Amino acid sequence: MRASNFIPMRVCNHFISLKLFNSKVNSFRSVTVCVIGSGPAGFYCTQHLLKLLPTSSIDIYEKLPVPFGLVRFGVAPDHADVKNVINNFTKIGSDSRVKFIGNVSLGKDFKLQHLQEAYNIIILCYGADQDIELKIPGEKLNNVIPARKFIGWYNGLPHDQDIPINLDVENVNIFGHGNVAIDVARILLKSVDDLRKTDITENSLSRLAESKVKTVRIIGRRGPLQVAFTIKEFREILKLPNVQTIINPELFENTESILPDLPRPRKRLTELLFTTTRKSQTTAQSDKKLFIEFFRSPTKFTGINAVNGVELVINKLKNLHDISPELQQIEATCQKEYVPCELIFRSIGYKSSKVDQEIPFYSSNYIGKLRVLPGVYSAGWLSTGSTGVILSTMSNAFKTAYEICEDIKNGIINDKEDKPGYNYIKKILKKEGKITVDWQGWKNIDKVEIERGKYRNKPREKIVNVSEMLEIGGRAE
Ligand SMILES: Cc1cc2nc3c(=O)[nH]c(=O)nc-3n(C[C@H](O)[C@H](O)[C@H](O)COP(=O)(O)OP(=O)(O)OC[C@H]3O[C@@H](n4cnc5c(N)ncnc54)[C@H](O)[C@@H]3O)c2cc1C
Repeated sequence: MRASNFIPMRVCNHFISLKLFNSKVNSFRSVTVCVIGSGPAGFYCTQHLLKLLPTSSIDIYEKLPVPFGLVRFGVAPDHADVKNVINNFTKIGSDSRVKFIGNVSLGKDFKLQHLQEAYNIIILCYGADQDIELKIPGEKLNNVIPARKFIGWYNGLPHDQDIPINLDVENVNIFGHGNVAIDVARILLKSVDDLRKTDITENSLSRLAESKVKTVRIIGRRGPLQVAFTIKEFREILKLPNVQTIINPELFENTESILPDLPRPRKRLTELLFTTTRKSQTTAQSDKKLFIEFFRSPTKFTGINAVNGVELVINKLKNLHDISPELQQIEATCQKEYVPCELIFRSIGYKSSKVDQEIPFYSSNYIGKLRVLPGVYSAGWLSTGSTGVILSTMSNAFKTAYEICEDIKNGIINDKEDKPGYNYIKKILKKEGKITVDWQGWKNIDKVEIERGKYRNKPREKIVNVSEMLEIGGRAE
């Protein structure tokens, strides 16, 4: 489904009210706008601003030589339908008012101050590129891998290609109960033949083909009523052939009576967890097993060089009756457990980098405010934290674009001052001898990837090396 088909009501209302004052916004001089980051937030902000400020020019700066952020490097290769948003982003990137400048980083190649000198409006959309650590002993042992890096590895993210992962192991633990944990488990348990037709990289495919993984445990600190994964992702993993999903029935004691009062999506997901629990008692044994485990937090990873087990503390819920089940917090008991395992993934969330000291963070892991500084705005995961899906990122980006227009309308943004835009930044990049990738350069890379994919009967074979990308699509500034 095209992203534009499911614009939520709240966003539609913006369209209506914008129409009312649009003529006023259009009567302003052209504003020079830059967007930092070419993920969904960057493209959706650009799309909405092109509608609202049609005479403006928008420059999108991207750290990597290629666009689309987590749609290319996060969304699982077997979720091809989700990646269809790229068709919409491609239309936006091809618009004559939009300039794509790849292989340049805010904080490395130029500063926020340079952007403030060059543009009337700056929209920071550079996502959340670091993972949150558990901060427990043993976290640096071999084969304790951030889920983010594993995902980057199989999706072809250049700087994750050399992760020291050993898949010659049987038992894997994944910490975290979100969709990312489910993605990691599914890729580990799925038949390689089914992955072969996707855009997964050839290197990771051949490594996964040799994997000995048999048992995957997805472990969360809270209970079945608090899981963050969605029913769609959970259903998908239940359908994997030759994989038995097992959930301990004791965990559902006292839960059945709460079911009727739960909000509908939570109720449906909990019912499915219930059904799975019951089925796990009866279904025939399979080669591979997936355990969903609750109320456990890791306190220590053990091992000499590589990890060989994890010590867990058992948790219980606090405030059982006085707040809604989804918000319930846990407290540790004095019970401990030890689980042997040879590979661990940490999947407890992402955080944003403060790439320039002048960018204020109003929250510990992300900016937390749409209006960051005068003329500087934020959108997407950098603004909200790493929650939600592409659809919620779209709503958030549309809101940022809408508020920018409100600020222009109310005279908060100085749109009277002529700003030099890219010409100013270009001088800085030229001085550094920087090689950049423009939209045509990306299209050249795209073409090569699709051609290479044809030989293997897959949508594309991603180029995983920045130098090669630059050879095909780069040019000196
Ligand atoms: C593993 C995973 C799987 C997911 N699967 C799905 C799914 O199946 N369906 C779904 O709807 N949602 C999915 N999501 C969520 C979705 O990817 C996010 O909602 C969305 O990508 C957030 O968009 P963003 O633009 O804020 O960030 P990003 O997509 O991360 O984009 C940020 C961009 O900024 C660039 N950048 C970073 N630093 C700089 C810098 N200093 N200068 C210039 N550029 C910079 C990055 O390279 C990147 O291109 C998934 C997320 C993850 C992590």
